[in-house]
Parts: sequence; C-alpha cells; structure tokens
Amino acid sequence: MRFAIGLFFCATLTTALNTHAAETVNDITQLNPIVVDQVVQPTTLEQIIKQVAEHPGPIAIGGGRYSMGGQTATEQALQIDMRRFNRILGFARERKEITVQPGITWRALQSFIDPYDLSVSIMQSYANFTVGGALSVNAHGRYVGYGPLVTSVKSIKLVLADGQVIEASPTSNAQLFYGAIGGYGGLGVIVEATLRLSDNVRLLRSYEEMPLADYRSYFSAQVERNPKVILHNAVLYPNQYQTLRAVSFSQTELPLTVEERLTPLDRNYWKEQKALKVVSQWPMGKTIRQDLIDPLVLKKPQVSWRNHEASLDVRELEPDSRAKRTYVLQEYFVPPAQLESFVQEMGETLRAHKVNVINLSIRHAKADPGTLLAWAKTEVFALVLYYQQSTAVAERAEVGDWTRALVDSAIKHGGSYYLPYQVHATPEQFRAAYPRAEEFFALKARVDPQNKFRNKLWDAYGPAGRN
Ligand SMILES: Cc1cc2nc3c(=O)[nH]c(=O)nc-3n(C[C@H](O)[C@H](O)[C@H](O)COP(=O)(O)OP(=O)(O)OC[C@H]3O[C@@H](n4cnc5c(N)ncnc54)[C@H](O)[C@@H]3O)c2cc1C
Repeated sequence: MRFAIGLFFCATLTTALNTHAAETVNDITQLNPIVVDQVVQPTTLEQIIKQVAEHPGPIAIGGGRYSMGGQTATEQALQIDMRRFNRILGFARERKEITVQPGITWRALQSFIDPYDLSVSIMQSYANFTVGGALSVNAHGRYVGYGPLVTSVKSIKLVLADGQVIEASPTSNAQLFYGAIGGYGGLGVIVEATLRLSDNVRLLRSYEEMPLADYRSYFSAQVERNPKVILHNAVLYPNQYQTLRAVSFSQTELPLTVEERLTPLDRNYWKEQKALKVVSQWPMGKTIRQDLIDPLVLKKPQVSWRNHEASLDVRELEPDSRAKRTYVLQEYFVPPAQLESFVQEMGETLRAHKVNVINLSIRHAKADPGTLLAWAKTEVFALVLYYQQSTAVAERAEVGDWTRALVDSAIKHGGSYYLPYQVHATPEQFRAAYPRAEEFFALKARVDPQNKFRNKLWDAYGPAGRN
C-alpha cells in the first residue's frame, strides 16, 4: 500500500514556517551552547528548499540534538530544525519498506509499524533519535550480523545547496548516497528516506560471564553463527576491563514476561536513574554494579518483543542536573583481532586519567559497504564508553588529552573513532581515522561550493577548518 504522498504535501503547503530569532542551541551534555542567528522548523519540502536556496549565510541542520559536539549548529547560522518534518510518506507492508520525512523519531516510526509486526532493521539502542540524525551519523546498534545503518537504506532524497532535490541510492547518484549517509549534514538536507524493515519477534534475554580473553571465540561460536541471536552486546567492567558479561537477545516462542509491545512513553525511570547515581558517585559504585545490580537485573527471566527492546528511552540515563557534572559518550572501533590489545591500552589511559567510567560496552559491526566517512572500514568491534566529567574548563581540557590518546590508540590498532561526540581529535587524527575524507570534501566542494552547510564538526575538519 502506498500512502497519498501528494495529499500530505497539499495539507501542509500553506502551513506558516515556525521561526525563532537568535537562539542558543545546545545538546544533551549541555557542554556546547552555540548562539545561532535563527532557527526554523519547516513542515513542508517547499519551505526547506526555499530556506536552503535563499539563505545567504551558513546553514546547520538539527535532528534530535543528541550529538555531543556542536554537530547541529555553528555561530551565525540558520539552523533548520527538522523535528516537525516528521510524516510517514509511504508504507509497503508486503515489501517491508517505509518512506519517511527524516525529522520523525524512531519511536514515532515504531508506533506506526508495530501493529504490522514489523521492526526497524538497524538503529541505535535508544529510540529518541530522528531518522535524519541517525542517517547522518550512519548509526549502529546491537544488531547481530549487520553493520552501519546505511545497509538498511533503500534510497534517500536530498536538498542540495542550490535548492535542487536529488534522489540517491546505491545505484543512482551513488556518490551522494554514500556521502550524505554518515555525512553529518555537510552535503545537504536529507528530506526523505526509504528504509527496509524486519520482523518483530519475541526475544529471550540471556547472559554469560567470562574473561575478555575468551570473548572473541565465544562471539564467533555462540553469537555470530547463531541465527536466532538478534541483539547482543557485552559489558566490560571497570577499572580492570578484563571481565565481562555478554548479553544476548535470541528469537524465541516462549511466553512473554513483558507484555507491552513498546516501551511506554510515560515510563518512570527513578530506579535506573538511582542506579546510575550509585555507579557514578558512590565510592564502591562500580563493584556494586558488577556484583549486585547487574546479576540481579540479568537473572530475572525476560521475554519481550524486539520492538520493546528497541524503543528504550534516553531518559533512563538522565541525571538530576548537568550543571557541575555531565554524562558523555565516546566510541572507538577496532578490527576484531585487535580487541584485547586495544582494551589493554584503553584501560591504561582511563586509569591514568582517573576517568569516572560508568559503562564500557562491546558491540560488533560488519564492514561498511562504501560510505565516504565509514567508521567501520573493516568488520569491527565497537567500544562504547559512557563516563561522567566535570563541566569545569580544566577537566574539559583533560578530557581532550585522554580522548586524543584513545584516538591515537584506535588508529594504531587499524581502527577509528565515532564523530557524533565531542570534537577533541586533531585534524591529523581525523584524516588518519577517515582516509576517504578528501573524497567527501571534494564532493562537498562540487555540490556546496560556498560551504553553506556547516556545523562545529565541519568547522574543525572541513573546508573552513583547513583554511
Ligand atoms: C544516550 C545516547 C545513546 C546513543 N546511542 C547510540 C547508539 O547506540 N548508536 C549510535 O550509532 N549512536 C548513538 N548515539 C549517538 C546518536 O546516535 C547520534 O548523535 C545521532 O545522530 C542522534 O540523532 P539526532 O536525531 O539527535 O541527531 P542530531 O544530533 O540532531 O544530528 C546529528 C547530525 O546529523 C545531521 N542531521 C540531522 N538531521 C539531518 C537531515 N535531515 N539531513 C542532513 N543532516 C542531518 C546534523 O546536522 C548533525 O550533524 C547515542 C547518543 C546518546 C545521547
């Protein structure tokens, strides 16, 4: 069934453009306040085309604003806030495909597809993000046997700097497709995406504890080769990072222990938030987590819908306040054979800088099929680091020091680091981790010759940053 695309556009064509004068744009960490000249919230394609074609200065694009280093803004920019451009344009249940405006969140998309027993194929571990934000970082999750989000995208439409609308897919305008996905809003505005969906199935959670040294052989024998395992990650415990719990969610016909099909939007997270406080602030917090909290949580049998597990809410991680201390993510990728050696160095760096690590988890991703800014240049294990830092200037500088040490280590191990987080890496490190960046910038120079599409990431590494 195709939806009446034209109908949606007609219905919204006359909608007035929501505009806010000079506004401070920030992200969830509250570390990156950026004053932009104007924020517009388009609801129609025509409004986006007009803004892009006619705005004379820099343009930044905002999705859910969960990236953590100014990737959605820069000073004096017009920010196009995509969150109200969020309609479902087409749905073909039999082909398992959906076409959306990219300001839609995964959670809203899940509400639509769940009654048809379908799930998002690849997404992050939380559902608050917009599809456009996820495409533009080429996100990934805990899905086994998959890689970055790009592998589940059939096609996209982009508004380029001159206002032209271009359709791109792996077979048509392929360079734009592989540039815009993972392109952090540098090439144009993604205004439509067609995604391939998967079946919603029941998942049984299970776990095993083991030394890091055993994990790779366990992963390849028990996880990767087991077609029933849909989601998997491992939690590596600080401060030694030598013991882990590997958690899998496998397809099952067992009766549900969690009846809700989706995580309720109004769920209260006081327990999770309390646990986070214990882990981050109590003197024995890390031990309490490893020996008490995790075993207690994981021992409880759980059978839930895939869509329930995929619709988690970032509110469960939210502290009481981010004024003095804030919670931040980082992520590093290394080829599988380098896992133990990289973790060894990572542990040394984190201990040397007394980093307050709340969670370090391992995920797996297959190699990227060809995006210009691929973080998975080969098959990789991803190390996802969640930590607490002070908002004071001195600690921010120290975070920069140990981040650059970890980036160096990832590069030395043939790997990379993830770009939606704080922009601490040097331009040299960026180019070493992203060797096809020059192709990306050459494409940008062709489709955005005035360097209209900007944000703090591209100010640091892109055409302006290199001048
Ligand atoms: C608690 C938490 C958990 C996370 N977990 C994961 C995870 O499991 N996996 C993972 O991969 N990442 C994860 N992330 C990182 C997150 O996925 C990315 O920051 C993602 O981009 C967030 O989506 P967003 O809608 O907030 O995008 P934003 O932060 O708003 O934007 C991200 C980038 O996309 C660009 N952009 C947004 N919309 C468009 C558009 N329509 N056209 C062109 N460019 C656009 C922006 O300009 C910006 O450069 C996590 C972040 C947090 C805070």
